[in-house]
Amino acid sequence: MNVHESEKIAGILTESGYVPCERAEDADVIVFNTCCVRENAEQHAFGNIGMLKKLKKDKPELVVAVCGCMTQQGDFARRLSETFPFIDLIIGTYNIDKFGELLKKTVETKKRVIEILEKNGEICENISPLRSSFPNAWVNIMYGCDNFCSYCVVPYVRGRERSRKIEKILEEVKSLVNDGYKEITLLGQNVNSYGKDFKEKGVDFSRLLREIGRIDGKFRLRFMSNHPKDLTEEVALAISENPHACKAVHLPVQSGSDRILSLMNRRYTREKFLSEVSMIRKIIPDCAISTDIIVGFPTETEEEFSETLSLVKEVGFCGAFTFVYSPRAGTKAAVMDGQIDAETKKDRIMRLVDLQNAINRADSEKYVGKTVEILVEDFDEKKKAYMGRDERGKMAYFPYSEKIVGKFIDAKITSASGMSLIGEVEKVKG
Ligand code: SF4
Repeated sequence: MNVHESEKIAGILTESGYVPCERAEDADVIVFNTCCVRENAEQHAFGNIGMLKKLKKDKPELVVAVCGCMTQQGDFARRLSETFPFIDLIIGTYNIDKFGELLKKTVETKKRVIEILEKNGEICENISPLRSSFPNAWVNIMYGCDNFCSYCVVPYVRGRERSRKIEKILEEVKSLVNDGYKEITLLGQNVNSYGKDFKEKGVDFSRLLREIGRIDGKFRLRFMSNHPKDLTEEVALAISENPHACKAVHLPVQSGSDRILSLMNRRYTREKFLSEVSMIRKIIPDCAISTDIIVGFPTETEEEFSETLSLVKEVGFCGAFTFVYSPRAGTKAAVMDGQIDAETKKDRIMRLVDLQNAINRADSEKYVGKTVEILVEDFDEKKKAYMGRDERGKMAYFPYSEKIVGKFIDAKITSASGMSLIGEVEKVKG
């Protein structure tokens, strides 16, 4: 989400006549797009912004701007502006489309501008992102979140769910396919809620998937994230019948314990989650299911953590983003009794990671000797090999003598190296 938002800010800067540069010393404008989802994000932001103090002193015409989730949170903007009087522009998440206008005002008046709105307005459709991840492209289908999971700050800093009009999304996807992008990822905090805020009925996530399925051309379609409480059979069918959709679903479970899931306000049970996994695997055979897991949520007992381990074993996730719980100011969980000590959390995450790594290794081994279709994404200078993923999201490395980034290839997998695969190119398909 934030990477794509940075692409939009870069797009606004390009339209205002700026060009990207490599070194901070050469820049006329430096923008910090902050994120408060990760731990210690505030310290990182303060540390990185503080490092510009000397540069700004030597080059007073440099414009320093800060945007992103943090500016929208609590009194962060005030503390930021007091700590760093050299910051020229602070803007919240709800008016990022005004970034170009406010930057111009800052440059022209040479005065600091701070604009944080309390409420989101209409979705702005007139920003052309400066995309930086060819052959992959991100497309927002909705913004905000209504779910209020008790550990998460997103609904407070990104507002309520707002879906983009289906015509706008289809237009963007078609234009990306025409421009040669080969993998399109639809973004939303909960893609299964797409369209729920529309007055007219009949436009939902499954309809969006089906419409995208009718677009010509060879490209892959991914989406994230799904909230398990909202995933329906209709969506699974729309994935299985879509010629572009990858056989991959990211379904964040967070915990295997019903009591912890309830405290997290996730609004599904372990049983419902497992029945969804069975439903997906029935409708989309060989579907790769990945997840997010938080360990050490307040009051989590050893027994409840074991329930998470047993769920991970039972499902056999093809990958998991694992996190140690850390409090976010302003959320319910941050003030819950029974916060877990750091040592216990560390022990739990290490056991979880060991288990997931073993599952990943076993999954990788199954590929050896097979031929799989890979989309080539980049060249890894260290490994001196191209890298790309199959539709299940498995990373593979392989040597090749010609430039093939952005092409689909068939690769014969010769060995597995932990999480990833090693292969050789059998056929370049274009
Ligand atoms: S679904 Fe929950 S975890 Fe995801 S963004 Fe919304 S509140 Fe946060």
